[in-house]
Amino acid sequence: MQKQDIRSMLPEELATAILVLGEKPFRAKQIFHWLNRGVERFDEMTNLSQPLREKLDANFTLSVPQLLDKQTSRDGTIKYLWQLADSNCVETVLMQYRHGNTVCISTQVGCRMGCTFCASAIGGLVRNLEPSEMMGQVLFTARDSGLAISNIVLMGIGEPLDNLDRVLRFLKLVNHSDGLHIGMRHITLSTCGLVEEIDKLGEHNIQLTLSVSLHAPDDATRNRLVPANRKGGVDALMAACKRYFARTGRRVSFEYAMIDGVNDSPEQAIRLAKLVRDTGGHVNIIPLNPIAERTLCPSGKTNLDLFSETLRGRGVSVTVRRTLGQDIDAACGQLRKRREKEGGSQ
Ligand code: SAH
Repeated sequence: MQKQDIRSMLPEELATAILVLGEKPFRAKQIFHWLNRGVERFDEMTNLSQPLREKLDANFTLSVPQLLDKQTSRDGTIKYLWQLADSNCVETVLMQYRHGNTVCISTQVGCRMGCTFCASAIGGLVRNLEPSEMMGQVLFTARDSGLAISNIVLMGIGEPLDNLDRVLRFLKLVNHSDGLHIGMRHITLSTCGLVEEIDKLGEHNIQLTLSVSLHAPDDATRNRLVPANRKGGVDALMAACKRYFARTGRRVSFEYAMIDGVNDSPEQAIRLAKLVRDTGGHVNIIPLNPIAERTLCPSGKTNLDLFSETLRGRGVSVTVRRTLGQDIDAACGQLRKRREKEGGSQ
């Protein structure tokens, strides 16, 4: 029989699984506690009997990411490159804000969305991450840094809504009251805007923050930057955002990476303001993070200021995101790419 991936299991499921092994269901809670403390071996579960630890070892796998590389920025941002059991790599970023420590996790190895400014898209999708591998990023980042994690953003490598079932399971695991118990309102899920999946997520009525990577208010520009837009266009996406808000009561926020001469004109700002005002959402402006493999350039400060002022002047709530980790390979996918080039395993 194939071994089960224990870090992907909810305590309720663990209770059933160990009952089959002739163990008392209450042990499941103890095991789940240990798993959420980031143990690397069943032997570390010291309040369990030796025979039970052996049974667990025989019946379950315990995934532990291996630290391959770590970069620390002057601003305290730490970027981790983890190697998974099958030798694929993913990145995790830890950001220290006044309101708490935020960990940005990857949800896939690679990505098949093909956004033209994003390092993660190069090379396409390799595979989905398991819930245990998403948990592993949170747990081992906390363990390595010695910092408590209060917020999670699903904004690393991959498209979370392209791996929705596993992401939903991860959310249950990380939110569980017997585990890390991170509140849904402390979690942000970022998507390039998959309409059907936004509706599916809405049906679960989870109180996380949905962040949509909009990057352009018109189909011509958005089709070029975010190929997934070609399916239904901006109108279908904004309609899905409105349904999401109506269903969950949570305002959607919109990411907008400012790219010189591509999406930063005053006309585009006016068009964006109209779209976003209709949804009651918020715009997060990010200066494009230039990456070695792509030719697009960030907008200059004058354009950026004019753009954000145009939005504000039209009643849109705007933040210009402070870019952390500028002195390290901060944009998602960069560290993994650099390692590939230097002849690392993935
Ligand atoms: N697939 C999801 C989450 C991963 S990308 C999504 O598209 O939202 C996380 C965010 O970083 C997205 O808003 C994405 O558009 C943005 N991003 C990717 N590459 C970037 C770059 N070079 N500069 C600025 N933002 C970038």
